[in-house]
Amino acid sequence: MTRLVIETRGLTKRYGGRAAVDDVDLHVAEGARYGFLGPNGSGKTTMVRMLLGLVYATRGEISVLGRPVPSRVAEVLPEIGAMVEGPAAYPHLSGRANLALLDASGPRRGRAGRRRERVEEVLERVGLGAVDRRPVRTYSLGMRQRLGLAGALLNRPRLLVLDEPTNGLDPHGIREVRDLLVTLNAAGTTVFLSSHLLAEIEALCTDVGVVDRGRLVLEDALDAVRGPTGRLVVRTPDP
Ligand code: ATP
Repeated sequence: MTRLVIETRGLTKRYGGRAAVDDVDLHVAEGARYGFLGPNGSGKTTMVRMLLGLVYATRGEISVLGRPVPSRVAEVLPEIGAMVEGPAAYPHLSGRANLALLDASGPRRGRAGRRRERVEEVLERVGLGAVDRRPVRTYSLGMRQRLGLAGALLNRPRLLVLDEPTNGLDPHGIREVRDLLVTLNAAGTTVFLSSHLLAEIEALCTDVGVVDRGRLVLEDALDAVRGPTGRLVVRTPDP
């Protein structure tokens, strides 16, 4: 049987009277590239933040890498690479200095020299090797997005949880991030990403969960839900 790296049951988050996430049972299999697809305001960011223990659920259960969140999130986080709603970076510091700071504040593994190499390696990997000494304030939005992704890769995570990772990127940048995610996935990293773009999920993912006003209206292998034209067919319930 396939192992699940993310599983939620009846997961609900209410703000006042309104459910941002409504009774969601999510199943993300080990090795998948899972796309969490929904329009703006449908609850994607709230879901991602709950998976990372940043927002508490109103009701329901979450298991990530076999451990309950938020109660054991401290054990889970060292194995996750996360990017939530655009990276936060110190604008006056270089890309490299920002990553070194992030590395120092995170769960450290390995010798200091090896860690420095790792910072250089991930910067190279996301295509920022040539500009890594420039202050981040001179970076484009796409470059900042890639710096965020580099930060998520620092600890060689088993699982990537990425909120709209290609937001703000130009078509070339989008292709680069997609290729990178496919390569990482082929090497064994499970990828969970949110997106409001159907084409993105179609181009990148093996599995899809479609969210509409907080409710999960479809969850399946992408191949199983393609219509005769090869495009994803989604029927959402009437309001
Ligand atoms: P976007 O792509 O625009 O970020 P999203 O799919 O990520 O949208 P969320 O940001 O999770 O959606 O928001 C889902 C709903 O919950 C929205 O109606 C939003 O206004 C509401 N919401 C989110 N966070 C809060 C909060 N802290 N307080 C009150 N309402 C919130």
